[in-house]
Amino acid sequence: MQCFDAPCTAACPTHIDVPKFISMIKSNNVIGAAEVVKTSNALANTCGKICPEEVFCQSVCTRGKQDSPIWIRELHFFATQYEKDNGFSATKVFPKSKKTVAVVGAGPAGLGCAFELAKLGHRVDVYDGRIPGGVPRNSIPSFRLAVRELESDTKFLSGFFKLKAQAVDKKGFEQIRTSHGATFLAVGLGQDRMLGIPGEKLKGVIPVLKFLEKAKANSTSMKIGKRVVVVGGGNVSLDAAATAKRLGAESVTLIYRRSEKEMRVWRSELEEARKQGVEIRFLVNPLSIVGKTNVEGIKCRRTRLSKRKDRSGRPIPVEVKGSNFVVEADSVVIAIGQTIEAEWLGSVERPKGGYVKVGKDFQTSVPGVFAGGDMIAGEGTIVQSVAHGKYAAHAIHEYLTAM
Ligand SMILES: Cc1cc2nc3c(=O)[nH]c(=O)nc-3n(C[C@H](O)[C@H](O)[C@H](O)COP(=O)(O)OP(=O)(O)OC[C@H]3O[C@@H](n4cnc5c(N)ncnc54)[C@H](O)[C@@H]3O)c2cc1C
Repeated sequence: MQCFDAPCTAACPTHIDVPKFISMIKSNNVIGAAEVVKTSNALANTCGKICPEEVFCQSVCTRGKQDSPIWIRELHFFATQYEKDNGFSATKVFPKSKKTVAVVGAGPAGLGCAFELAKLGHRVDVYDGRIPGGVPRNSIPSFRLAVRELESDTKFLSGFFKLKAQAVDKKGFEQIRTSHGATFLAVGLGQDRMLGIPGEKLKGVIPVLKFLEKAKANSTSMKIGKRVVVVGGGNVSLDAAATAKRLGAESVTLIYRRSEKEMRVWRSELEEARKQGVEIRFLVNPLSIVGKTNVEGIKCRRTRLSKRKDRSGRPIPVEVKGSNFVVEADSVVIAIGQTIEAEWLGSVERPKGGYVKVGKDFQTSVPGVFAGGDMIAGEGTIVQSVAHGKYAAHAIHEYLTAM
C-alpha cells in the first residue's frame, strides 16, 4: 500500500486507485472504498467477482516479489458487496448538458460508456433488445457469476440513462444516428463461429453461446447428453466443459488442435475444468460429426505442430495422415470463437469483414459514430470493455463540445 507508483493501478484498464481503496477498507470506510472502485469501473461488483486478476492488478503486485500478491480483487469484491448489502450511497448530481448520445448495446462497454457520459452531463439513451448486462448476464455460467451479482451493478447504473428495449437494425441505426449528437456502438460478438465440417446440422450439435445461454437461463431443466465433446481451446470452451459436467454429463472431453502451451486460457480456469473431471485431449482436429439424425460421435485426426506460425504467433497444427479415430458423443459443443452479428452496420468500416475499425478516439469511419468492446478488439475481458466505453465517453464529450 506504500508503493509510490502503484503498478496495480496502472495494470487495471480502468485504473482503479487500488492503494486508496485498500487504505479505506483498513480504516473501516468500506462504503468509501466501494465508491472509489465504482468511480473508475462501472461494473464494479461484476469485476470484483470475475475479473482475471492473474492478468491485471495482482500479476504486477509489488508484494508478490517478496512473498505473495495482495488479494486485490477479493478486497474490491468485499467492498462492493458490502455497499450492495447496506444500500448504495447517494450519488452526486452531475451537470446537465443539452446533448444526447445513443449507446447501442447494454453490455460492459455500453454500460461503461453510458455511466461516464452521464457523469459528463449528457443525456444517454441505451438501446438493447435484451435485459442489460451483455455476456456477463446471459452467458457467463452462474457458478462463476450469479445474475444477482451482475444486477447489483445494472440496478445502480439504470438511474443514469434511459433504457430503450430495442434490437437495432439498419433502419433503426439510421434513425438513432441522426437523432442523437453522437452514437456509441457496443454490440459485442453475438454470433458463434462454426467449424464448417460435415455433420454440424445433426441434432445434438450446439454452438457455445447458445449452449451457455440456455444453461444459464434454465440450469435445472436443461438436458445434455451423457457423453459430451467440446471443441475449442479458449476460456469459453472451458466454461462450456465445466457447465456440461454440472448439468450431469458423465463424460466431458475437450478437444484442441494444439498443445496445452498454446491454449489462450486463464490457468485458474484450466485447473478448475480438470478438477471437475473434464478430460482434455490435445493435438486433435475434428474432421466430421457422425450420426444419422442425432450425434453419435466426432471423427478426429491427430495433429503435430509445425515450425511455421500463424498470425496469432502460434505454431500451425498439421494433420497426421492415417491417425483418424472417433470419440463417441451424444452432444457436441462448438466453442471456436465468435463474430459480430450486425449486418446493419452498413458503411461502418470493418477490415476484411472483421471487427470494427476505430481511431485512437474510438471513432469509426462514420463521423460521430464511436465503437468499443469486443466488437473492435475481438474476445477480451469485461474490464477492458468497460475501459473502452469509459475512454470513448471522454472522446465523445470532446466531439460534442467542439460541435
Ligand atoms: C462464456 C464467456 C465467459 C467469459 N468470462 C469472462 C470472465 O470471467 N471475466 C472477464 O473479464 N471476461 C469474460 N468474458 C469476456 C467478456 O464477457 C466480454 O469481453 C465482454 O462481455 C464484452 O463486452 P461488450 O460490451 O463488448 O459485449 P457484450 O457483453 O457481448 O454485450 C453486447 C450487448 O449488445 C447487445 N446487442 C447486440 N446486438 C444488438 C443490436 N442489434 N441492438 C441492440 N443491442 C444489441 C447484446 O444484447 C448485449 O447486451 C467471457 C466471455 C464469454 C463468452
